[in-house]
Amino acid sequence: MSPDRVPPLGGTTDSLWLGVLAAAAGRCQCRGACGKSHAKDGGRCQREHGGYQQHHGGGTVRLIVAPANPADLLLPPHRTAALPKRHLAAWCPPCHDGARTLARRHQHATTPAAEPDALFDL
Ligand SMILES: [Zn+2]
Ligand SMILES: [Zn+2]
Repeated sequence: MSPDRVPPLGGTTDSLWLGVLAAAAGRCQCRGACGKSHAKDGGRCQREHGGYQQHHGGGTVRLIVAPANPADLLLPPHRTAALPKRHLAAWCPPCHDGARTLARRHQHATTPAAEPDALFDL
């Protein structure tokens, strides 16, 4: 009963979603932003749209179109929808979740009170 594919971002058109996916060659564009190095996959996640995944419940991989910059993954949906195509990337769900979690952690880590020694390493 699940839909055949992930719907595009709220407010974006289907052609944008397809365009981003085409530019990514239908493959997750994560190069480690999720926290995994993807070293055994040549530095880039191997998950392809429509491919089979053994983990995360199995089934078919459905790539998500989301901001290429992990920090932008924290933007509210209406801001995300306003991003131009060149600022978007195709993500597989595990990488998308991982990158967003890391971005959130990074955001917390860059608040003035946290770890000042790591911020100004001149
Ligand atoms: Zn991925
Ligand atoms: Zn990844």
